[in-house]
Amino acid sequence: MVATTTNTSRKSNRYLDLRNMLESRRLELMSEVHGKIRDVRADKGKDREPLDSGESSEIDIQEDIELALIQMKAETLNKINEALKRLEEDSYGNCFECGEEISEARLRALLFAVRCKDCEEARELAERKKLFERLDSSTSIFDISN
Ligand SMILES: [Zn+2]
Repeated sequence: MVATTTNTSRKSNRYLDLRNMLESRRLELMSEVHGKIRDVRADKGKDREPLDSGESSEIDIQEDIELALIQMKAETLNKINEALKRLEEDSYGNCFECGEEISEARLRALLFAVRCKDCEEARELAERKKLFERLDSSTSIFDISN
């Protein structure tokens, strides 16, 4: 890591960019989650025309899906909060394997990437190899049992 000459500007551009990225995603999600919760509540409060049971269960399913989506977004929101915390501690955006900085483009696409592209590819390759080895050994077992 390169030491900066002034203490006041210790935070790098990368830090600021990443923070902006996370913050804007957080705001986006927050307004989506809050908007959705309002929608569901507003729907529930409405005086509905009496429905036959088929129609009302369809609406229930729709509400379930909405709630599941809200839950998913809320979880993402939690992860973003954690990422922001890690960013403050300088442990966000560095590769878990080799410690190199993960490129901003990659982080933009995969907010919670923990490996750089090279390490991720190496890992995928290793896993594919393992899978093939397993397939190989199971085929030979199969051959023996024949
Ligand atoms: Zn790496």
